[in-house]
Amino acid sequence: MMCLPGSVLAVLGDGQLGRMLAIEARRMGLVVWAVGSDATGPAAQLVDRHIRLPLTASAEIAEALIGAAVATFETEHVPLATLEAVAAKTPILPGVTFLAKVQDRLAQKQFLQGLGLPVAPFAAVNTQDDFAAAARELGFPFIVKTRRGGYDGKGQFKFHNAAELTASEGPFAQWIALGQPPSVAEGFVHFERELSVILARDKLGSTQIYPLAQNVHHNHVLRTTRVAPSLPNGVAAQAERLARAVAEASDYVGVLAVELFMAETGTLIINELAPRVHNSGHFTLGGAVTSQFEQHVRAVCGMPLGITGDPEPVAMANLLGDLWQNGAPDFAALLRRPNVQLHLYGKAAALPGRKMGHLLVRGRDAADAHEQAEACLVALERHASQRGRG
Ligand code: AMP
Repeated sequence: MMCLPGSVLAVLGDGQLGRMLAIEARRMGLVVWAVGSDATGPAAQLVDRHIRLPLTASAEIAEALIGAAVATFETEHVPLATLEAVAAKTPILPGVTFLAKVQDRLAQKQFLQGLGLPVAPFAAVNTQDDFAAAARELGFPFIVKTRRGGYDGKGQFKFHNAAELTASEGPFAQWIALGQPPSVAEGFVHFERELSVILARDKLGSTQIYPLAQNVHHNHVLRTTRVAPSLPNGVAAQAERLARAVAEASDYVGVLAVELFMAETGTLIINELAPRVHNSGHFTLGGAVTSQFEQHVRAVCGMPLGITGDPEPVAMANLLGDLWQNGAPDFAALLRRPNVQLHLYGKAAALPGRKMGHLLVRGRDAADAHEQAEACLVALERHASQRGRG
């Protein structure tokens, strides 16, 4: 059954992804509810109804969502108890079973490995003794990631040598300080590039895949995305095959992001899955006929997917809170550039590393768009630091 305009779409989570889902859904005439703790935040400002509850309040949320035609989520960190409580009363997509697997990095890797898909070598790390075993198995350097929670490099520890396995300072001490959370160690991948596939799949199993995105991270946080980069032969097709294999195996409905590492030889390894709209898919707001947000809304509402269209020469640059440290960024200079689209998320507090908004920059071609996006960021950074000194 299709949820038509006038039906209620509920979103678990009330951050910027919920906001952008709400903008597209409301444009299409849907009524949007969002659940979360931030009563004045990015999604609350734009939805028809903000349900102010922490995502742990499973019973209250399930009750509050009665009347919604379908529920979805903007973060994979919704507690399983909440997902299950909601699912008992309201259809929820993408499916809870798949999300339960993805939430746990170990289960996610086992799932991918079980499908025969390439992942970095990994080992479960639960006790102090497991670190030495992981080092023997994986060699140095290796990375330890908490099985649950964690994003943008949070909950990640890199081990460079044996001394760090027991030292009272450094990554091991940080893991202890965090309460020794169950974690997964993975071999360090000496990748040449990071890529991501943004795929959408509808209830009938049709899929649409956007042009491949190439991502640059700084301090574990996405800085820029360029679209349809030139790649060794066959890489784009292989990336699509991997994403499709994940979506088919899980009968996925919605937008799915598959983050990949590419070695110099063009070999691909899956870093992680995001069962939701994704930061590296923001370029679709200006670079595709149907954005990832509309695509997700269409899929979970039982509509067929929209066309993505030909790749457009658009690049994305994230605006982090660091740019606000000495006052608002130089928006006037930015807005004088007619090929730059500004997206702000309406967040009041600009903390360093916090995603405050993003830019979409159109160029002559993909490389030119990316160069201009990077130049915009550098200009904003220079302006912020000059003002800090002034
Ligand atoms: P994640 O939160 O797992 O996406 O990791 C954040 C970033 O850390 C990735 O985008 C990579 O830049 C880096 N990273 C994560 N895992 C690995 C790995 N196994 N080898 C090398 N770099 C990694």
